[in-house]
Parts: sequence; C-alpha cells; structure tokens
Amino acid sequence: MSPSQRTFSAFLFPLRLCVLREKKQRSNSIMPLAKYPLPMSLDEARRNYGWNEFDVILVSGDAYIDHPAFGAGIIGRWLEHLGLRVGIIAQPDWKNTDDFKKLGRPKLFFGVTAGNLDSQLARLTVMRRPRREDHYTPGGVIGKRPDMATVVYCQRLREAFKQDCPPLIIGGVEASLRRLSYYDYWSDKVKRPILLDCKADMLIFGQAEQALKSIVEAMLNPVGEDGVGGLDGIPGTSIMRKDIDNIQKVVETPSWNEVSPDTDAGRERFAWMFRKYHLNCDPYFGRPVAQKHGDRYVVVYPPTATLTTQQMDEIYGLPFTRHPHPSYGSARIPCYEMIKDSITTHRGCYADCSFCAITYHQGVMVSSRSKENVLKEIEDMTTDPAFRGTISDLGGPTANMYGTHCKIGRYRCHARNCLTPTICEHLNTDHGDVLELMKDARKMPGVKHAFIQSGIRFDLALSDGGRDYIDQLTKYHVSGRLKIAPEHVSPEVLHHMKKPSADQYKEFLQKYAKASCSAGKDQYTVQYFISGHPGSKLEHMVELAEFLKNEHMAPEQVQDFYPAPLTLGMAMWHCGVNPLTNEIIYVAKTPREKRLQRAMFFFRDPDYHDDVREALREARREDLIGNGPNCLVPAERGRKGSNAYPGKAPPHLRGNQVGWGAPNKGRPDDGWGPNATKKKRYEEDHGMPTTGAGCGSGGSKKVPQMQHALPDGEGGALQWLS
Ligand code: SF4
Repeated sequence: MSPSQRTFSAFLFPLRLCVLREKKQRSNSIMPLAKYPLPMSLDEARRNYGWNEFDVILVSGDAYIDHPAFGAGIIGRWLEHLGLRVGIIAQPDWKNTDDFKKLGRPKLFFGVTAGNLDSQLARLTVMRRPRREDHYTPGGVIGKRPDMATVVYCQRLREAFKQDCPPLIIGGVEASLRRLSYYDYWSDKVKRPILLDCKADMLIFGQAEQALKSIVEAMLNPVGEDGVGGLDGIPGTSIMRKDIDNIQKVVETPSWNEVSPDTDAGRERFAWMFRKYHLNCDPYFGRPVAQKHGDRYVVVYPPTATLTTQQMDEIYGLPFTRHPHPSYGSARIPCYEMIKDSITTHRGCYADCSFCAITYHQGVMVSSRSKENVLKEIEDMTTDPAFRGTISDLGGPTANMYGTHCKIGRYRCHARNCLTPTICEHLNTDHGDVLELMKDARKMPGVKHAFIQSGIRFDLALSDGGRDYIDQLTKYHVSGRLKIAPEHVSPEVLHHMKKPSADQYKEFLQKYAKASCSAGKDQYTVQYFISGHPGSKLEHMVELAEFLKNEHMAPEQVQDFYPAPLTLGMAMWHCGVNPLTNEIIYVAKTPREKRLQRAMFFFRDPDYHDDVREALREARREDLIGNGPNCLVPAERGRKGSNAYPGKAPPHLRGNQVGWGAPNKGRPDDGWGPNATKKKRYEEDHGMPTTGAGCGSGGSKKVPQMQHALPDGEGGALQWLS
C-alpha cells in the first residue's frame, strides 16, 4: 500500500457515522426516479445535495449517464446507497490536471474507470481502422478519452495531488480484464497487469458492488498499525504485495519474466499462467493467484460470490434519473439512444464462449432479479414523460438465461461451461420464469411493446422444458429482427469457440420461421459470425460461405476475431495452443489471412471477388469459382466462364440488403424470404408449412450426464504441459 493510503484512516471516524446510517431493506421496492443526477461540480453538489466535499470521486472515460446500464451511473448510486457523498468527473481533459482537481480531494478514494468499453476498442475497429464515432461521448465525438484511459487518469491524479493523493482504486472492463499479465492485440506484446502501470492501490474486477461494500467497511474498521490491513484479501480485488508468505493456499503462476518473452518458452509459460488463473477464477473453489514482478507480487483474489436475487434487487432498486447529465444539453449520446429504454434482468453467463469476456467479468453463473423488482422498474419507467411505451430490450448477456440455474448448486461443480459440448443435465433449462416475466412485462399499463434485443442462446431455447419460448418470443417480443449468434458452422471451429452445432442453429431457424408463420409476421434474424477465430482456417470459412449460400443468407453482423484480454481466445491466439486441453491450434494472424477469411462472408459482393477467388484457390476449392450452381464467385475476365456480372454487381445485389427474410425488392424472385412470390418458398424448400396450420414448436432436448469434474487448486490430476 502506498504511503498516501496510510493517511486516510484519519478521516474515517466521521464517515463511520455516515456509512452506518440505517438503510431500509428495499429488495422489492424501487425508489422513484431520482430528482438529480450525482454532481459533476461543487456548485451542483451544494445546490442539489448540500455537500461541500466528497467522500468518493469517480473518474470515468464515458459521458456520465445516470442509468443502471452504465458503469459510473450504477457504481455512483451504489456508493451513495452506502452513505457516501459521490462526485463524478466524466471524460476529463487528460492533457493537464485541471479537470482532475475541480472537485477537490475526496475523503476516501478516487475510483477510476475507462468506461463501459476498452478505450482502444472505443477508438479503433479490430482491423485497426478509426471508428467514425464514439458511442459513449456526446455527439459521438472521437478523441474525448486517451488510449489506456485508466493508466493516464491515474497518472494525472498522482500529478494533481502529489504526496497528498488519496488512494486510487481502479475498475471497469478495461482494468478488470487486465488484472493479470495479458496479451495486448494492439501492440502484439504481452503486457504486465494494469495495476502496476497505474500505480494504483487496488483493482476491483468483475461486479464491483460487493467488493466496494467490503472496502468501505474495511476503511471504517481499520486493521493493523497503518489502518489498511482490512483492505487485503477482499474477494473481487487485486493488490500489490511485497511477499505472499502469509496468504493461505496461494497459487503462484509463472513470473512476468517467464511469460513476457515472445518465444516458444515464453508462450508456453504464458499458457500455463492462464490455465492456473482460469482454474482459480471461481468464487467457490478459487484460490488467490500471485504473479511475481521484480521484487513485488500482484495478487488476484477469487471473484466475489454470485449475487443473490436479493442483492440484485437491492442494486437495481436504486434511484436513477435514467438520463444523461443535464450539462450535455440536447447532444446525442449514441449508446444512450440505444439503451435508455432497456431493462437489465440478470447478469452473468454460463456459456463461457472462448472469445467472450463476460464470464471473467460477470461470472459463470447467472444472477437474476426478481420478477417484481423488474416490473417495478418498468412501472417507474412508464412515469417518465420521455418514455414512448416501447421497452427496447428486456434481457442481459443472454436473454433466455434469466431464471435458469444449476439444480445441484454451482458450489458443487468445478465446471465453467454448462452448455458445451452439450447441455449439462443438472442445468435447469426450464424457461418458465422468463416466459412469465415476458408476459407480465408486455401487459404492464403504459407498455406497448417489450422487445428482446439481447442475443438469445438457441440451444437453450430448444431445450426449454416443453415450454413455448420460441413461439412466445416470436409472437410478442421480436421487433422484426431477432439477434442470434451462431458465430460459425464448422464443427472444428465451433468446438474451439465452445458454441452449439450448426444443426441446432438450423433447427432453431426452422422453428423460428414456423412460429413467425403462425404469428402472421414477416420477421427475420440477424446473425453474428466471426472470422479468424483460433482454429479457423480458410477451408472452414469456405464451409461457412457454402452454408450461407445454401441457406440463402447474407450476414450483416460479422466481425474479425479480437483477442480480448483474459479470454481463452486470447490465450489460444497468443500461444497457438488451448491451455485447457493442450490442443495445438492454427491461428490466422497475418493481415492477409485475416482479410481473406473475412472476405468469405461477402462472396456475393463484387468488391470482394478477387479476395474470395484468392482464398478459394489457396483452400484448393477452385471448383467454387465459375458459373455453376454451386459456385460462390464468377471467374475473372479472360478466364474460362468469366462473363458473369462483368464489372458490376449482379442484379439482385444492387443497392439492396440481402439476407434471409430481407425484402426481395430489386432482385429476382428466387423463392426465399417472407416476401417471395414464387410457389417454391424458403419454407417449402425446408419442408415447412407456409401457413399457420401445422406450425408448432419443438420438444425438449435430451441432455447428457454431467460432464465436467475439474479438480480445484492448481489443476490437480489434469495432465498438461510437462
Ligand atoms: S456444469 Fe452442470 S453441474 Fe456444473 S455448474 Fe453447470 S449445470 Fe451445474
């Protein structure tokens, strides 16, 4: 701990009274909409709250929006709920220290976050092209936060307050995913934990509420001579220590010196480090993990326990204005426009997909709010004059995980992925709770529509315990386009991604089409696919392109793989091996390989034909070049069979959206999509009825035995790199 941290115990006793104020239990009652947002200036603090100083100041890389979907918004209100006086510094000018000093020195600590997104990812696409707008900034203006904002903000705070700097506690996605040494995609290097670069006193990872509660309590009950002993060992946090002698059951990973070299030995040690952390990143079985950096250790404690329904209700029951801070005037904040009328029903995800960071941030089990708590929030939302009657999203990381849970108790199982390779028999996949919530939400007075825009997990939807989830979803909760994320169709790539099979994907599409028929609705799906994932070769992308052609699809949402820090995908990308299974994995790393893989999504677009032909030749699939019915692209001019669509787009692609269910205006009626007029429609092609009669939902899915039984601690009996 820094010397500055030792000074803050002097301020604790007045605060003790403040924090120990009696709080009403509000688990099932939402406070009405808040009158004022948290203050962003001292004038505002005096005027609206009667505060002359702050206990905690949050510094954020995003605009301040007092809404539970935004980090500074929800954490600010949580700290206020704990009895603290909270101020917000949003998107400070980092080129000098003026903005960092404008609220004065907080009594307890500065909380620093880059915002809801990685600061570099907010500026650049995965292909390293500058983004056109920053979704978390008024007006979408680019350049309002620096790269690695958490580090830069901490440096400025140290400069601003020098020896008198209060403790710095960092959090948010950027810090959370960099709690241990990580591979940095932008610099193509292994980087050390962000705590060291920030010179911060503590890092909070994952869901911060319970860790913050423990920190505040520890500050009020100082332990040890310097008064900071109680701050060590809090679940969900990471700190620096000089030694690890007195940490019980600590697991030491390979040191920074071992994992950082860009050599085979370095990558092997990195993979081993990742494996050790992965097996211990568990609230019930995990042990503290330590990594040596010079003469210090970075110690990462296990995550906080999965939030109970009561805890979730307490958090989401806090008062919010649900609006951006008034100082932004009428400036449009793009992400707010998308999210303002959404409701978070749960946190966490037990899918543990390799490319996704959710499980390392929110946990591998789902924490759901109570139905009453969600409905009360909707009721309060309808009192806002700006609400137009449409709930834009009723969901969480995966909408249909609400209310589902492990029947034997998560604390008895070491697994992280309950859904792959098949759904665990102990997972309660009954969709009764989510169906009830959906029904009650859409029937609330003042609600015209309650849409679900979060992705859904289709293998789970197919195993809904005999409920009619797909029917209900399709009939009432799709705003025309349902988001699903098959990500790929090749079995080998899906295995590395930990995603369900293409057969389940097709089964879901058929049931969705039937249900849409029954409901008399023209609605289609938006599919998400990824190219360049570890394990994906050109031949796999050709397989995907053939699938898209056969199914008459043209995906709109595609992305090149991004190795997000701390994910399994990152470890596979950097090491070329799966640290959990020891499988050697092909990784397409060069810009050319990435470009060719991505081009396969767009085989219909003439702009990509050269790349597609190059990819097909490299994959030894020249049979798909030409004018045959199975061909993906025409041959070049001058080559045999090259006269198809010379120099311009084929007629059915000119200026029109292509995709299953897309309007067929401007292209030949090839018999697919809801607007097809030829006799042979997509539905007939797939053996489906085209009218309501006979369109039904599927039955339940047979589930296998429990399939994961990993030992705890350092990996126990599992064999790995020798
Ligand atoms: S794998 Fe099965 S037993 Fe383990 S936590 Fe998931 S549902 Fe429960």
